[in-house]
Amino acid sequence: MKAIPGIPRNGCLSKAWSLKVSGTTKVFGWRVLIDRLPSKINLQKRRVRLTCNLCPLCNKDMESIQHIISSCDVAQRLWVKCVSGYSCFW
Ligand SMILES: [Zn+2]
Repeated sequence: MKAIPGIPRNGCLSKAWSLKVSGTTKVFGWRVLIDRLPSKINLQKRRVRLTCNLCPLCNKDMESIQHIISSCDVAQRLWVKCVSGYSCFW
C-alpha cells in the first residue's frame, strides 16, 4: 500500500478499527489511510477521463486525499464544523 504524504501510518490502521466510532466512520478512516477514496487523482489513476482534476472546493490544487484531508482551506473549515457539532452547515 502506498503511503499518503503527511499522514502517519505506523499503527494507524489497527487504531482506526479500535476507535469507538460508527462503522461508517471506521471504513472512511481506513479508506483515507490506504488512499482508496475516489478523489480525482485516484480516478485518473484508474483511467477515468476528467476535464479538470482541481479541487472543486478551492480550485487551487489537485484533488487528492491528502489535499482534502489536510491542505484544502475550504475543506478544513468544513471538517472543523463537522467535528465541532456533528452537523455540517456550509
Ligand atoms: Zn481544495
